[in-house]
Amino acid sequence: MEIRATCLNCMDGRVQLPVLLWIKENYTVDFVDVITEAGMDGVLSDQEDIREVLRSITISVNVNKSFKFFVAGHFDCRGNPVEEKIHCQQIKRAVERLKNYWPNHDIIGLWVDKNWQVSVISQG
Ligand SMILES: [Zn+2]
Repeated sequence: MEIRATCLNCMDGRVQLPVLLWIKENYTVDFVDVITEAGMDGVLSDQEDIREVLRSITISVNVNKSFKFFVAGHFDCRGNPVEEKIHCQQIKRAVERLKNYWPNHDIIGLWVDKNWQVSVISQG
């Protein structure tokens, strides 16, 4: 059976390939479902109503059988223009928030730096 994961990322075109390639290099995954918002880390951390994002994740989990989530934030995010330190806090909060809904899923928080390098900053 195919192995699926879900990536919650910014809509910024610069971060799609770096994050997807990094996931494919570091995890055994056949397909990555991608859900985007402008500044996804800020949305998941601070926005009260995230029902639309949860709806997409639910399809990814229930229908596509995704078993692992990635939440990414990135350098120079124009949809969520805050300092790197704040991004990191938001990514951690986003991981914890999603963990409440999917306690049995691995949820990995990623930071994409100014060289478009990806690193793990949080795990839930
Ligand atoms: Zn962004």
